[in-house]
Amino acid sequence: MRSQIVAGNWKMNNDLAQTEALITELKKQVKTSDAEVMIAPTFTNLYNAFEALRLDDIEVIAQNMHYASNGAYTGEINAGMLKSVGVNTVILGHSERRAYFNETDDLLAKKVNAALENDIRIIFCFGEELDDRKGDRHFDIIEGQIKNALFHLSEANWTNLVLAYEPVWAIGTGETASPEQAQEMHAFIRETVEEKYNRGLAQNVSILYGGSVKPGNAKEIFSKPDVDGGLIGGAALDAENFYAIVNAF
Ligand code: PEP
Repeated sequence: MRSQIVAGNWKMNNDLAQTEALITELKKQVKTSDAEVMIAPTFTNLYNAFEALRLDDIEVIAQNMHYASNGAYTGEINAGMLKSVGVNTVILGHSERRAYFNETDDLLAKKVNAALENDIRIIFCFGEELDDRKGDRHFDIIEGQIKNALFHLSEANWTNLVLAYEPVWAIGTGETASPEQAQEMHAFIRETVEEKYNRGLAQNVSILYGGSVKPGNAKEIFSKPDVDGGLIGGAALDAENFYAIVNAF
């Protein structure tokens, strides 16, 4: 059985006081679904968030990490540092990292390896640009992104992997893939994984949808059989909206 997951990516938002205030609001919310709940504050607030949520079942996760174990990489954060502040899951391959920080499939494969070597679970993001969809290249693009960064992994590695399909044209734009478009792509992703590995593995991997998920559209998107939850940007910055999405299963 695969997990249902709703993860909030806070991006570069919320200083320490704002992080603590949002966590206080999140703690007041009531979860009525079985979804695993995660929040990804910025690096500087991970430890405080972890401490504030120690007794709650909201997992604190990271938005990124470097692949090296240490050394001369000014400004970077490694897997061991994340683990030392209670983080056991990292988002990798977000389209903003790919677009603004030139993260390539090859670099992401290195980050994936480093996370897995350190027993860190990965939410691995990928998605096509609008031009790719208009040009009917979206399936090829997605297949390439998955293969290039993940298909060197062993079957065992996949127990620590969650996939997140995030069409770039739907991130922060207010435009969502229709539930049917999301289902079509998620089914394709599962088939692609099944062809490389096997049916059991493909059925067990959680595939999240990301791209302008809101309380008003989450239920319909999550009702699709191959959609196992969401990676949420904007709507994760408000506790009530976020929990309306968590409870949309
Ligand atoms: C994201 O950044 O992963 C995301 C899905 O953002 P938004 O929900 O704001 O579109």
